[in-house]
Amino acid sequence: MKELKNLMISVSGVRGIIGDGLTPEIAMQFAQAYGSEFPGRVVVGRDSRVSGEMLKYAVWSGLMAVGCDVLDIDLASTPTTALVTERPDHAGGIILTASHNPKQWNALKLLAPDGLFLRQKQGEKIVNRVENADYNLVAWDKIGRVHVFQHAAEQHIDAILNLSLIDVDLIRSKKFKIVIDCCNGAGAAILPQLFAALGCVPIFLNQEPNGLFPRNPEPVPENLGDLSRAVLEHNADLGLAVDPDVDRLALVSEEGNPLGEEYTLVLVTKFVLSKTPGDVVVNLSTTRAIDDIAKQVGGRVFRTKVGEINVAVKAKQIGAVIAGEGNGGVIYPELHIGRDAPVGIALMLQYMAESGKNMSALHASVPHYSMIKDKIELGFAADARAIVNKLAEQHADENINTLDGLKLLYENSWIHIRASNTEPIIRVIAEAPTTEQASAMVEVFKKKVKDFS
Ligand code: MG
Repeated sequence: MKELKNLMISVSGVRGIIGDGLTPEIAMQFAQAYGSEFPGRVVVGRDSRVSGEMLKYAVWSGLMAVGCDVLDIDLASTPTTALVTERPDHAGGIILTASHNPKQWNALKLLAPDGLFLRQKQGEKIVNRVENADYNLVAWDKIGRVHVFQHAAEQHIDAILNLSLIDVDLIRSKKFKIVIDCCNGAGAAILPQLFAALGCVPIFLNQEPNGLFPRNPEPVPENLGDLSRAVLEHNADLGLAVDPDVDRLALVSEEGNPLGEEYTLVLVTKFVLSKTPGDVVVNLSTTRAIDDIAKQVGGRVFRTKVGEINVAVKAKQIGAVIAGEGNGGVIYPELHIGRDAPVGIALMLQYMAESGKNMSALHASVPHYSMIKDKIELGFAADARAIVNKLAEQHADENINTLDGLKLLYENSWIHIRASNTEPIIRVIAEAPTTEQASAMVEVFKKKVKDFS
């Protein structure tokens, strides 16, 4: 990743604040570069951000200028866009979303033709083209055209309903009452139809896809107070929260208790492995409860660098039956290899329907650890990686893993310190038997980082 004019540029795309770095010109340049590298028909989807439409037309212009056709699926979840992209007649896909970042942010997330995010080499080629203004611009009679496709969400839902683990009639028979908080994001483009197909009684909060997030859009417990209250008020079976581009899912029990986003993947993993034993891929920051569960059924756990593409590539390589990230990102490879909240929802409803247990009981059945996720703000100018490297040198003779920043492993706890790929911050995550222990570890290492910066 390099930093340029207040932009975060990485192999998966370009991210910035609208009016202070990310402009239509930048979006068009990246689209021209992308289309030069992946000629053909390119899928373009967006989340609900206010800047989404402005950037969409800039991306269209860039793609058409290098001879690409655009398949416009407009407002769509990130997993929906990925699923359409992986169809063999499509050359690639671009998603306009800054995921859980605040509403003033947006980004171009670049997909490879297989629907996974760009790999390192593919991404570097795009960035080089932008840096050198190296675009395959075409003459007037070769410019691309725009095609509108309105069935993307429908196809995504059909694919979920056809999964072998999903028994639609069984889920429908339960008539689950569910409160769901979409944070005014792209969830509105797919979840109403999904719940209708599964015979649920949904109560939506923040369903207007207008990009005006009424709260911090990250689906972590401290942001889900309204959802918890609504679950109790409506006497619902379950509360759900998705992030603005619908690739992260958080669960709230029927008691109004937010389980914490780590437990989405823990519960889905337990269910999937109980039906189809096999291997699991997660990132280095994901809870060790995953290891405990895999051990029970004899499955192996592979850990990768943080970042969806790292988990996805490994999951594809080893043929994982379930994968994902502890931030609520469920990857169910039988559907496709990308984080997908709608498939996470369907698997959880199947788990509840099949087990006959409520969410509190399912949550009580898995191992529990306390995790603290913190961060240190650095500003665009700081060299976060250098700071983490210095810290790693200081701890070189301990039990460490330096695949991605520094992870220190202790007997019953761990702490992971790494530079974020998407924001100018250092993330500090610790897991221990108690919150106090995890919190104490985080404070010690935050102080160390500050001393170095
Ligand atoms: Mg997201």
